[in-house]
Amino acid sequence: MSKKLVFIDSSLAAAAIGQSTTAQREALRKAVGKRGIACSTFLRKEFIWRLVKEAFSTANVLRHWDGDTSECLEWLNQDFGGRSSKNILTLVAAILRDKGEMKASELSTELTRIGSAILREYDRRMGSPKHNRANCELGAIKVVVDWRRPYRVSQELEEAESKVTACRVTEIFPGSVEALPNTKTVKKLEKLIGQLDFRCNKCRTIGDAVIAFELPTRAMLVACDRDLEKLGKAISKNVVYVDSIRGLQPRN
Ligand SMILES: [Zn+2]
Repeated sequence: MSKKLVFIDSSLAAAAIGQSTTAQREALRKAVGKRGIACSTFLRKEFIWRLVKEAFSTANVLRHWDGDTSECLEWLNQDFGGRSSKNILTLVAAILRDKGEMKASELSTELTRIGSAILREYDRRMGSPKHNRANCELGAIKVVVDWRRPYRVSQELEEAESKVTACRVTEIFPGSVEALPNTKTVKKLEKLIGQLDFRCNKCRTIGDAVIAFELPTRAMLVACDRDLEKLGKAISKNVVYVDSIRGLQPRN
């Protein structure tokens, strides 16, 4: 049997570094088998932006919260301002499960610590990313935490993103989306293809498309997203679906 390169979609990264639920870690382990998980620069970027940066900005909110931790979490839950806070709330739930009740300021410190630890763990397990067909500049970024000013991290990451003004991710896409399935990401991609002013705040919104198109032909991608599976099939990429955390949850 040939040794295939296995990549994972960013929503499985937490499971790959031993976080997430037992069921999801098990599902991932089954899909990957004995092969190692490869890392692309774009996937590292997704991990940093969706999990690490979110951990730091949530820690900032908690740090300034004047009241109960549970109220703060409720407030974060209601915060639909385009933030991918779902991943972080899962992480927070895990911390509280392990450590019991905490003050908002204590939870903030713990989340800052974990935010930096999960990135170290990600880099330790995945190694430095060797695949960068999408020419992502942000995924290679080093995240340095100044413990006297931990709140600076999310700010610095946002600044880094706004500095990349010539995102070359579009180079991996075809000229038209005609042959692609009609998914949310493809609709967004349709609008973005051919835009001259393409910045990294836009490539962030079409992560699925980038992940599918940059996948090497002989590699396999394990994903927990049906749209990504559809898109992969349409462009002859090998995408294997595993259930999401919710899908794996036992139902009564
Ligand atoms: Zn970009």
